[in-house]
Amino acid sequence: MAAGENVNWQSRLSDMLSAHSWPENFDNIVEKLSTGIPLSLDDGVGLFKSNDLETIGKIANLVKESRFSNKAFFNVNVHINQTNICTLACKFCAFRRGRRAKDAYQLEIDDYVEDLRKYSAHVDEVHSVGGLHPEWTVDHYSKLFTTVKREFPSIHIKALTAVEVKHIASLSNLTIKETLIQLRDSGLGSLPGGGAEILDDGVREIICRGKESSSEYLDIHKTAHELGIPTNCTMLFGTIESNEQRVAHMIKIRELQNSTNGFQCFVPYPFLPDDSRLPEAQLATGSEVLRVIAISRLMLNNIPHIKAYRMNLGDNIAELALQFGADDIDGTVQKESIMHLAGSNAPLDHDKVMLAKLVTNAGCVPMQRDTVYSRFEEFIPKPQPKRRTLKMAVDD
Ligand code: SF4
Repeated sequence: MAAGENVNWQSRLSDMLSAHSWPENFDNIVEKLSTGIPLSLDDGVGLFKSNDLETIGKIANLVKESRFSNKAFFNVNVHINQTNICTLACKFCAFRRGRRAKDAYQLEIDDYVEDLRKYSAHVDEVHSVGGLHPEWTVDHYSKLFTTVKREFPSIHIKALTAVEVKHIASLSNLTIKETLIQLRDSGLGSLPGGGAEILDDGVREIICRGKESSSEYLDIHKTAHELGIPTNCTMLFGTIESNEQRVAHMIKIRELQNSTNGFQCFVPYPFLPDDSRLPEAQLATGSEVLRVIAISRLMLNNIPHIKAYRMNLGDNIAELALQFGADDIDGTVQKESIMHLAGSNAPLDHDKVMLAKLVTNAGCVPMQRDTVYSRFEEFIPKPQPKRRTLKMAVDD
């Protein structure tokens, strides 16, 4: 059972589902969910084709409620992207720069620490991902993490996507395992799930040629789990993939989770297109985003948390997603480049009170959590001091 989860959620779900009547064509899905049988590829594809989004959303929400009642989680974090210089050029990426680009940057360790210091009094997590820097080996990142932990011991470092780990290992002539051990021992607390895109090598060849293969992504996460490093997993949808490939992606993640139980959270988010990157891709509609969130909840019966990533979805859809099976909206973030360069206009100035308001607007109870969901409590905003009324002398 995951932290924050109801004991016996499966039998609770069974009771909740049987307390409702469902359209006949959902009998198979409801039966499987009630008895804990994982949904198949055909089940998932059928849900993508269904024109009854309302029922899909209702079932997904019951699954979420059986596990977490009406709690919804968030944390207090900051994103610092250590460099935008990248040796790859994934087609969907608006963030990376070539080394000689005018706006290429690399944060030296002192700059990074200085940046983090501005937020350190308020955050308990720093989330750091970046480009594949041509020279930074594992020693650079070890030094960075050691310095951060020495200065800010209570801040959790969630950093480096699978492809960054692969790149660092290769530059350092180490195996993935040796690299992760060195990073973990220097202070790395968990891996974010970025870079999964769609776990289909045909799709990857077109949208992110040169990136780690599907099996490499899964192997790197598996190795992390075996070393006690929890990770998240993601899915970038809305580029060129089919519904079958989306569902197959979820099943690959589910199968790895069956053997390692190291994924905390699944984060599906749509590609934010513009005219230059993958011009054939269309911006996912709000209902498509909600459908993917709901289907993720239904397919991934062994991953506790489904995140509606506010930085990508924006506040309005993230709030709605809490009614479609999501139970997490990520964090305060405060500083974010990757999604904003791709076109997101999600606000960056939200504090805990504003996040809690977003959660309560969706009818949920706001729970502030740490990165790995081991500590969490209901967030109750402190009453604001009453404003003093200014007495003005008015000549009338
Ligand atoms: S997605 Fe990551 S690996 Fe791909 S180009 Fe962008 S920064 Fe580089």
